[in-house]
Amino acid sequence: MVATTHGLISSMLWKCVADVESELPDNKDDLDHDLLRYIDRISSLYEPNPFHSWEHACQVVLSSSFLVKEYHKTKDEIGSKTGIDSNPFVRFITVFSALIHDVGHLGMPNAQLLDDKHCLTKIYRNSFLERQSLQIGLGIFIEEFPDLSTMVLRMCPEFVHLVTSAVLATDVSSQERQKEIKDRFERVTTAPNENVPEFERTQSVVEQILLLADVGHCTQGYDIFLDWNAFFFRECLGNFYAGHGHDPRAEWFKGQISFIEFYIIPLAERCSALVPSCEAINGARTIVNTWKKHGEDFTKNLIDRSCRADEQEQANYDAKNVDKSNEVKATVNGFGKGNTKCMSKKSRFWRRLSCFHRHEKNTAHRDSTASIDSNTQ
Ligand SMILES: [Zn+2]
Repeated sequence: MVATTHGLISSMLWKCVADVESELPDNKDDLDHDLLRYIDRISSLYEPNPFHSWEHACQVVLSSSFLVKEYHKTKDEIGSKTGIDSNPFVRFITVFSALIHDVGHLGMPNAQLLDDKHCLTKIYRNSFLERQSLQIGLGIFIEEFPDLSTMVLRMCPEFVHLVTSAVLATDVSSQERQKEIKDRFERVTTAPNENVPEFERTQSVVEQILLLADVGHCTQGYDIFLDWNAFFFRECLGNFYAGHGHDPRAEWFKGQISFIEFYIIPLAERCSALVPSCEAINGARTIVNTWKKHGEDFTKNLIDRSCRADEQEQANYDAKNVDKSNEVKATVNGFGKGNTKCMSKKSRFWRRLSCFHRHEKNTAHRDSTASIDSNTQ
């Protein structure tokens, strides 16, 4: 997955560079290899969360690269005068932001960090997780890859500022920030170009595309939606078992409907102003209609399977006469306080998903090692 992600981000970078300068740099191959090493480094810093994982980052890079490519195509077709922005680096800014947007994510929301008085809440004033991702992603880019970052900053001096506003935009729990983003989009799409600064226009394009890409699994087909829905459910339930946050089970079915109807569809509508060919609105409507018919059963099944698997594991543990210290270890590993059968042990369902993640991670590791090897030879 590192190699594939590098392929997408690299093609965006060199298209942007070609738009700014007539000739590509002599050391293009070295810089491209730096980009590969940077992506590999970032991939290793994603936590193995069920949802906020490296696999999610890859999905967001893929979705954002598709959307920004379509946006550019539209811009080229209708002419840059009527396009929303004219920054030649908009493609690279978008996919770079997608790459780093959840790096270091702890698998729980900002509000929970605040309740837990987590140390990140002492370091940053708000959007704790997003600010941490920015510090990791931009810090490594600038400090460890000086040749590559110098080239990017020389061609796009506002790069850091635009990436920062895009990643902060992904804090959907901040109502204040989401209002700011919507107001900006309104201004950018209704006021004549000369009345809105170029920076603000690019900022708005990147924000909207990244926001939609971040929830791309809610617009791209029912099966994809169900897979990521199960991962997110697992993350939320795992948090609850570990003593963080509320039990997601009771509200899961209804919660998905409100999320798609009140957040995803309006967002997809805004994006269709940037990318008219975008099918996200239809995709989201189909998903929510199907979920209304079958989502209740899916949710029930998800909960039942986790409970049955827990009970089976409980029986296995009992049969093997597992002592108390092992139970404590299972709890510390993040699966339950041991209060009920459902909450006490890691379920087979969870293990199946973990296997998927391990398999993907191993494949990604093989990919990256092979690519780095082939690039150094
Ligand atoms: Zn995300």
